[in-house]
Amino acid sequence: MKGKKRMTKQRKVILEVLKSTNTHPTADWIYDQVREKLPNISLGTVYRNLKVLKEVGEIRELDYGSTYSRFDGSPHNHYHFVCNRCERVIDLDLPVDNALNKKAEENNKVKVENHRLEFYGYCIECG
Ligand code: ZN
Ligand code: MN
Repeated sequence: MKGKKRMTKQRKVILEVLKSTNTHPTADWIYDQVREKLPNISLGTVYRNLKVLKEVGEIRELDYGSTYSRFDGSPHNHYHFVCNRCERVIDLDLPVDNALNKKAEENNKVKVENHRLEFYGYCIECG
């Protein structure tokens, strides 16, 4: 873990909860799960720790422009599929195409460090 921020007990439990699922949950869902282990924790504390975990690169925040964010316990780049109906977010079995970075740089006078790619459509239950 980068920096000097100590991994508190609370932060550790929050990270464990998030890493135990691949459903890309909301902060509210994480809060409910964490409360089973730490009944006195507040939603504000959960939010604060999610922010810290994001800043140190342990987790990712997925902002789809809705009123709430989803969180991803995997900090490494990977592609997502978002269902237009039920809004579930699925990790795709699709290798990250780093050649895209070079292609984006061509003709665009930019230096690309990374990219994020989302696919939209209908999941198997909504399809
Ligand atoms: Zn769906
Ligand atoms: Mn993911």
